[in-house]
Amino acid sequence: MQNFDVVVVGAGPAGGQCARILAKAGWKVLLVEQHETFLANNFSSAASPIEILSDYDIPSQCVGSYWKNLEILSTNVSRRWESSQSLGAVFNFAKLREYLALQVKDNGSEVWMGCRYLKHYQQGTRTTVFLQRRKPNETIPVSTKILVDATGFARAVMYPSKKDRPSFLKGTGIEYLIQVDEETYQKYSQTLVFFLGYYWSPQGYSWIFPMDDRQLKVGSAIYNETHKIIKKTSPLKDYIKQIIDTCIQPKNYEIIDIHGSIIEYSKSLTIATIKTMLLPSEIQFLPLIFWEEKALGMGLKEPKLLVSILRLI
Ligand SMILES: Cc1cc2nc3c(=O)[nH]c(=O)nc-3n(C[C@H](O)[C@H](O)[C@H](O)COP(=O)(O)OP(=O)(O)OC[C@H]3O[C@@H](n4cnc5c(N)ncnc54)[C@H](O)[C@@H]3O)c2cc1C
Repeated sequence: MQNFDVVVVGAGPAGGQCARILAKAGWKVLLVEQHETFLANNFSSAASPIEILSDYDIPSQCVGSYWKNLEILSTNVSRRWESSQSLGAVFNFAKLREYLALQVKDNGSEVWMGCRYLKHYQQGTRTTVFLQRRKPNETIPVSTKILVDATGFARAVMYPSKKDRPSFLKGTGIEYLIQVDEETYQKYSQTLVFFLGYYWSPQGYSWIFPMDDRQLKVGSAIYNETHKIIKKTSPLKDYIKQIIDTCIQPKNYEIIDIHGSIIEYSKSLTIATIKTMLLPSEIQFLPLIFWEEKALGMGLKEPKLLVSILRLI
C-alpha cells in the first residue's frame, strides 16, 4: 500500500491549491480527482478580483480575460463604473485547476485523475483511504497521515451519508459559453455585467463575463429556497436566452458549451477534526462581488491554515 503525508480529495481550486502548497513545502501529497480531465466539470465562471493572481501566485496562462469595468442592470435602473486599469480576471477554470495540479506533480507529489474517494478508516495515527479508479476499474487503498475533504458542495469525505449533512444555503447556476461576432465581443471584452431584479433574474442573479477568443460566459443562478413573493420562476436557460436576445443582441453567435452546478454554502467554516478537514468555499450568498471574490478566494486561502496545523502535528 502506498504511503502519503496528505491525501487531498477533490482537485477544484481549493484542493489544487491545498495540494500545491503542501507539495511545495515538501510534504508527500496525493491529489485525487474523480473526473478524467479538467474539462469534464468546467462549471465555473471563475471571475475574481485582480489581487488573487499575486496573492496566490497564479500565472496569466490561467486567465481567460481581464476586466476593468463593472455594470449592474436591474429591472428599472442600470449603472456602470469604469476604470483605466484591470480590476480583475476571469479565469479559464479548466486551465486554473490543471495548472494547480501540474504544480503538485512538478513538486514531486502525485495527482490521480479518474479516481473517486469511496471511504476511509482510522488505524492508530494513520488513515487508510479507499479510492476507486475507473480505468481499469479497481479499488486502491492508500495510507495517509492527513485526509483533506476538498470535494466542494459534495462534502463526500465529511458526510458520506447525505442524511448526516447539515443544511446548507442552496442555489443552482448554469452558464452558456458563446462565441460572438467581433463587434459584439468588443462591447463586453473588459466588463463584468450583472443582472438583478424581477425582469432579468427573479430569485437570483445573472451575468455576462468576457473570455478570450470572442467568447462570453452568460450565466444565471437561482436561490433554491421558497421566496416570500415570487411563486414561480422559469428554467434558468430562459433568463440566459433573454439576456442574449434582448441585451447582447449579437449579429450571430455559437454555443460552445453549457455547464453548471449546484452551489451549496454553509454559513461558517467547519473543521470537524484535526485529521479530517473540510475545505469548503465558506461564503455568503450576497453581496455579489464579495460572493464572487470569496468563492475562489476562500478556496485558495484555506490551505494556509492547513499548513499551519500540519506544522503542529
Ligand atoms: C455557474 C457557476 C458560476 C460560478 N462563478 C463563479 C465566479 O465567477 N467567481 C467565483 O469566485 N466563484 C464562482 N462560482 C463558484 C466556484 O466555482 C466555487 O466556489 C469553487 O469551484 C469551489 O471550489 P472548491 O475547490 O471548493 O470545489 P469544486 O470546484 O466543486 O471542486 C471539488 C472537486 O472535488 C471533486 N470530487 C467531488 N467528489 C469527489 C469524490 N468522491 N472523489 C474524488 N473527487 C471528488 C469534484 O469533481 C471537483 O473537481 C461559480 C459556480 C457556478 C456553479
